[in-house]
Amino acid sequence: MAGEPQDDCLFCKIVAGRIPATIVRESDTTVAFRDINPKAPTHVLVIPKAHYADAAELAAGAPEVAADVLRETRAVADDEKLDSYRIVFNTGSGAGQTVWHAHAHVLGGRGLEWPPG
Ligand code: IMP
Repeated sequence: MAGEPQDDCLFCKIVAGRIPATIVRESDTTVAFRDINPKAPTHVLVIPKAHYADAAELAAGAPEVAADVLRETRAVADDEKLDSYRIVFNTGSGAGQTVWHAHAHVLGGRGLEWPPG
């Protein structure tokens, strides 16, 4: 069920401390940790602690937590002293989503081209 921890979810396991992650920030509702396969000098994932499969489900089910996630992306950018950065929510397999727990990628520290591939 949306919002409930899922036993088979990688990011729920990170929230629960059952698998290691390099956590850079934590709030009551969110965790931010470094991507294991970084695509830029700064590549941090900001996730809700509660389980929502993707950004659309998060926005519909817990818009206040979606706002917390967005606020934390700003805090990560400040912590990392990024002037320019990109926030990405891959939503659906056709858009490149591979982990089915909503997450915002915060990418920065190099030039980023547009449009993305
Ligand atoms: P997606 O492709 O938008 O779903 O992004 C999932 C991201 O999770 C990818 O950038 C992966 O590199 C990252 N990832 C997968 N497993 C781990 C992990 O255990 N720790 C940190 N990042 C991970």
